[in-house]
Order: sequence, then C-alpha cells, then structure tokens
Amino acid sequence: MDDRLTSVVIVGARGRMGQSLMSEVLVSDSMTLAGAVARPGAPGLRDDVGHMIGRRSVGITLSDELVPGRNDVVVDFSLPEATEGYLARCVERRVPLVLGTTGLTEQTQVKLIEASREIPIVAAANFSVGVTVMIHVAGATAKALGNDWDAEMFEIHHRNKRDAPSGTALRVGQAVAEATGRKLSQTIKTSRDQVGPRSRDEIGIMALRGGDVVGEHTLMFLGESERIELTHRANDRAIFSRGALRAARWVDGKEPGLYDMFDVLDLHSV
Ligand code: NAD
Repeated sequence: MDDRLTSVVIVGARGRMGQSLMSEVLVSDSMTLAGAVARPGAPGLRDDVGHMIGRRSVGITLSDELVPGRNDVVVDFSLPEATEGYLARCVERRVPLVLGTTGLTEQTQVKLIEASREIPIVAAANFSVGVTVMIHVAGATAKALGNDWDAEMFEIHHRNKRDAPSGTALRVGQAVAEATGRKLSQTIKTSRDQVGPRSRDEIGIMALRGGDVVGEHTLMFLGESERIELTHRANDRAIFSRGALRAARWVDGKEPGLYDMFDVLDLHSV
C-alpha cells in the first residue's frame, strides 16, 4: 500500500474548483493541505481556509502569493492570465504542478512545454477519471469497428455554459477520428439543417443546453442492425477535483515532463 503523504498547495482557492479541491484534500488520509492561494486583492486574504469552506479551522490562511515548499505539489485551477506567473514560480522552486486551468493562449502553451523540461507537469482539460477512460474506450472501439460504423455524439450542459460543443465532446471526437485515420477538423458536424443523407465521413456532435446539468456525453457507434452507446454522466464537479488530486499524488517524485491523465491512469500503454 502507498502510505506517502502528498502535500498540496491549491491555487485559485476561492473559486468553485479551488473550494472543491480543498474540501477533498481536507478529508483525505493521503494528502495534506500546505497552502491556498487566491488572486491579489481577493476578499478573505489571511482568513483561515477551513472557515472559508464552512469547516473547522485548519491553521492555513488564504494567501495571495505562491511560495511552495520543497516537497509540495501545486494544483492550479485559476484563470489563464495567471498561469504563466505560477509556472515560472514552480520552475523557480522546482516543484511539480497539476494544471487544470483551461483556455491557455498559444504563448502560455509554449511556456508550459518549456517549463516541463524543468519540472513534472500534469495538464488536462478534463481531470475526470471517468471521462479519461471514456476517451480511451472511444478510440479503442472506433479502431476495432472501422469506418463502416457511423459515430454520433450528443452532449448536455447547464444553461450558462459558454462554449458549444464542449471541449470534452471534441476530445472524444478527436479520439474517434484519430483511431479511424481521419482529421477531426475535416469530419466534425455540429448541426444538420440540410436535408439529405449523412456522408460516411462525418462525426456528428450535437449540443443541448439547459437547467443545471453538470455534464453528460453520449457517443453512439451506429452499424447495420446494431448500435453501441457509451455514456458518461457527471453529477458533481468533485469528479475533477478527485482526478486532479490523484494526478497530484502520481506526479509527486516524477521526472520532468509534460504528462496528462492518460499517463496518470497508465492508459497510453493499453
Ligand atoms: P472560478 O471562476 O470559480 O474560479 C477561478 C478562481 O481563480 C477565482 O476565485 C479567481 O478569483 C481566481 N483567480 C483569478 N486570478 C488569480 C490569480 N492570479 N491567482 C490566484 N487565483 C486567481 O472558476 P472554476 O470553475 O473554479 O474554474 C477554474 C479553472 O479551472 C477554469 O479555467 C476552468 O475552465 C477550469 N476547469 C478545469 C477542469 C478540468 O478538469 N481541467 C474542470 C473544471 C474547471
């Protein structure tokens, strides 16, 4: 049994993900909270973070500066504008990073690759273990079925979601496209307002929006007289926190490099 205690610093601590991450760390037997960082000027700076999430005092106060210790792992779910500064700080302090912030600019992505030559980094647009496995299974299924089966997907999210289709749907589509020797950009179809038969080469992704749905993705492979459906339903954003914290434990002590959730779950080799 792995009885290491992983010490984590949460960046973006006042955000929805930051609070979910802290809640998970505080009830974990295998992790300890070493710090919590919010944006400069955020309300509640120097307050006890236990109180901030409605728990007992934990003796850690909210800070606006990232100063990780030598044995800490930084977990950043903040905003893309902040990422470069935190990357530089992690490199300077030689600590591993788990990066969940999405919407990184191309320039920040270059910095991410540069930083991963110095420190181990796990970056993923979706840290859910279930979604990662679904992407893997989607690719393997598409490869086995070949181009004779049509691939169609629908996704549902809450009414406030800004992008459509979801990044996750595109990632699932990419796995299907790659497994069948196609390029997603050439095959994706996000609406059908023309009457006429479906071309063989399409991968359809339809987006539904409404209510408070956290996230649901269904991928269908439609063949002659048979159909396979893969569905993932997210009920709580804690699925991302748990996956990110699993990544934090995994990356602790790894060699420098840019890793993703497929590395964490050892799915590249399957
Ligand atoms: P949120 O808006 O609730 O929280 C973001 C927090 O970051 C806010 O409290 C904001 O004040 C804080 N922040 C801004 N600048 C900062 C700085 N310089 N230093 C520290 N904190 C700073 O958003 P959220 O829903 O918690 O999501 C946060 C990020 O994580 C987004 O980029 C989101 O897309 C991403 N996300 C990723 C995954 C995944 O699995 N990879 C899952 C959910 C959300």
